[in-house]
Amino acid sequence: MRITSMGSARPSPRDGRAKDAVFALNVSGKLVHVSEVPRGKACECCCVACGSRVIAKQGNQTAWHFAHLSTADCLHAAETALHKAVKQVILEGDVIRTPDLVVEARVNVGPYVGHAKRCLKGRAVLYAGPRLEVRLGEIVADAVVTTHDRQLIIEVAVEHPVDDEKLRKLAYMQTPAIELEAWRLDRTVDWTKIRSFISESVEGRKWLFNSRAGQLMKEAQAEAQALADAHAQAARRNVTSRDMPRSQTMAGSFGRRGDDTVLTGDWQTDATTKLKRLWHRHRVDRLLTVTPSFAAADMILRWEEKDAHEGDVQSHFESLLAVLATIAHITYRDENGVIVELRQ
Ligand SMILES: [Zn+2]
Repeated sequence: MRITSMGSARPSPRDGRAKDAVFALNVSGKLVHVSEVPRGKACECCCVACGSRVIAKQGNQTAWHFAHLSTADCLHAAETALHKAVKQVILEGDVIRTPDLVVEARVNVGPYVGHAKRCLKGRAVLYAGPRLEVRLGEIVADAVVTTHDRQLIIEVAVEHPVDDEKLRKLAYMQTPAIELEAWRLDRTVDWTKIRSFISESVEGRKWLFNSRAGQLMKEAQAEAQALADAHAQAARRNVTSRDMPRSQTMAGSFGRRGDDTVLTGDWQTDATTKLKRLWHRHRVDRLLTVTPSFAAADMILRWEEKDAHEGDVQSHFESLLAVLATIAHITYRDENGVIVELRQ
């Protein structure tokens, strides 16, 4: 079964990054890439982190980088330079791709779990008026831009993701904020790659605060609750029908249901949710039970992947029943209202 799990765990910057910077400050104090300067000492550059002289290593053995002229340890040269370079690109640019906004809810009803997810896709947005290192209330934002007449805070994470304290402050401010996980950029990074990371990449970013998350979460929780309730109800019905003699189950329980749709099974799986949705779209009133649901749900997934033609509802219905009948025990109501039982 496919259970999506986004979790709330925050990824930490990976270890083992290059410790050598590929950006440094030239004599004019401008941030430059190692490919933009003369080789060796002639580059006349300084380390962004410690300010000491660096030389441009442009050999064939290792990736081009700036090395400190002295042997003094400078632990943060690469990160500090990358942080500055990303902010520089934000300052000079006008497009940023926003992250997908994903919320997930899980609800337990006794042992039964309902799980639902909502997602607003991110997109490329134009911005204006970029500013760096902006104090807003209690925080200093790496960058602030204006999109659609609203402020958008951009945090650039190179060494440390935004911590919980800052997250709380951002939520308090109610200003949309995103985090760019710049630590995902590797040692071959250059200006072009940073530009494309900011304006085009779908990966490496997430919302730190988005005012629409609350509403989406309410919707997801309502759906998760409904799924958990349905799961619990279905389980109760299963217990009841198992306790009854077979003939009585068939005659009695369907009679009492009339035209009601009953799907028994495991409601917490994506597949069963799809099954439910599929039937709501077509002829929900005709399907009564499908057991065992796990096997049936798996089959539904595979069947949907075949991309069956949406137009022909009748053949849709019949072909799905035929497939399901090979693995599950199904009851449904035919066109004449007669209850039909299909079993393996
Ligand atoms: Zn340094």
